[in-house]
Amino acid sequence: MVKDTGLSRQKHEFKSRWDYFEKPMARYTIKETFLERLQNGEDLYRSIRDTFQRRGTTMGIFFAIGAVRKAIVAFYDQGKKTYENMRFDESAEILSCTGNISITEGDISVHGHIVLGFKDGTTKGGHLLEGTTIFACELFGIILEGEPLERIYDEITGLKLWSP
Ligand code: ZN
Repeated sequence: MVKDTGLSRQKHEFKSRWDYFEKPMARYTIKETFLERLQNGEDLYRSIRDTFQRRGTTMGIFFAIGAVRKAIVAFYDQGKKTYENMRFDESAEILSCTGNISITEGDISVHGHIVLGFKDGTTKGGHLLEGTTIFACELFGIILEGEPLERIYDEITGLKLWSP
């Protein structure tokens, strides 16, 4: 019988941590970049997803600027673990919209955040949802190559995060 000493426990803990740090990190290379004008009246979230899907990829990052006719964005309540939606039924500039493309439940998914600029110069923003209508939008997309990037449910945050 092996005696459980403090030393062996310590060694074990160290090994676990070491294993964690030695885990190879996923590396990605840029396969292609593209610029695309998104169409007036279309849904921003779906348009971003479709531009990547049309190019046959499920991995990428994007940046967009332009303007919207109206927008729906969300704020994640960390305590309740739910998204609270905010609706803006007015035109606004897309000062910045950035995000990434990966796989959720076997399907391509967009994770985007948007900063909207209003007529009075104030800004509001949040997590991009379907329901944001494009006025004009210029998308810069980067298609990545590497290990499949998949989102799975994370107990701690209640979010679907990239699998470790
Ligand atoms: Zn988000």
